[in-house]
Amino acid sequence: MSSFLPFNSTLISGLFTPLPPEEESDYTPGFWAVLQGSSLLVPAGSQQILFPEGPLPTGIVPETEPLKIGLWQGKPLRALRVAQGDILPLGYEALPFQGPDVRLDNTLATIAGRAAQILHWERRSRFCSHCGGELARIPGGWGKRCPSCGDEHFPHIHPCIIVLVRRGAELLLIRNAAWNPGRFSLVAGFLDFGESLEECVQREVREEAGIEVTNIRYVGSQCWPFPSQQMIGFLADYAEGEVKPDGVEVVEADWFNEDALPLSPGGKRSISRWIMDTYGKGGNV
Ligand SMILES: [Zn+2]
Repeated sequence: MSSFLPFNSTLISGLFTPLPPEEESDYTPGFWAVLQGSSLLVPAGSQQILFPEGPLPTGIVPETEPLKIGLWQGKPLRALRVAQGDILPLGYEALPFQGPDVRLDNTLATIAGRAAQILHWERRSRFCSHCGGELARIPGGWGKRCPSCGDEHFPHIHPCIIVLVRRGAELLLIRNAAWNPGRFSLVAGFLDFGESLEECVQREVREEAGIEVTNIRYVGSQCWPFPSQQMIGFLADYAEGEVKPDGVEVVEADWFNEDALPLSPGGKRSISRWIMDTYGKGGNV
């Protein structure tokens, strides 16, 4: 079940209560989700990571006003960001929440991801993209309204397909130009104007690998807060064509036997890993 993937809400259901934003007049004590890039600031060397509780740890300089995003263990959880170049306070380390460190469990990684996505939206929605006016919050949600021109703006979540293409016991994998040699993963790409998701799958596989596919079926989806994508996963079967990478975005593409797969750049928390593990060896829907 893809709903139980990290960064999806099911994983924190009953543990974390999301709240819409509100102006806080009195700060009741609570927890802190302190982000630096896509990392969570945590006490250094802890075996079990917890959100810091009580006063904001000394030495942390928020880039923006802390924002209450929900309740954790019945108390407010406030998210804030520190600058990328900031030296961390003594006794703290920055743990990537996409990374493999088992000390950061999927629950905290999921909440950190949500905090990162919200803070990204808050930073990108200060001014109206139509007239440049300063935006005001629409009460009760994360949307904003422009007092100058009346435009309304809502969180930008970008749909992106990811697909495992099979040809018998072989899987089609590609190497993006940004990945180290020897690392391969699934074809993926952003939805374009005028496309259904299935059409996007067909186009991306054609563009990145020169292959035509058929029998496209949905397998699951994942919130991907890096910074704000919705990954929509598919399986597809080979139809025709010879493998030919585009040479720009994709520098290598090939068929790999399901028993001899190369290393993947996708972390263990990614839908790419889940699709490979669930459907890579003959799994089907
Ligand atoms: Zn405006």
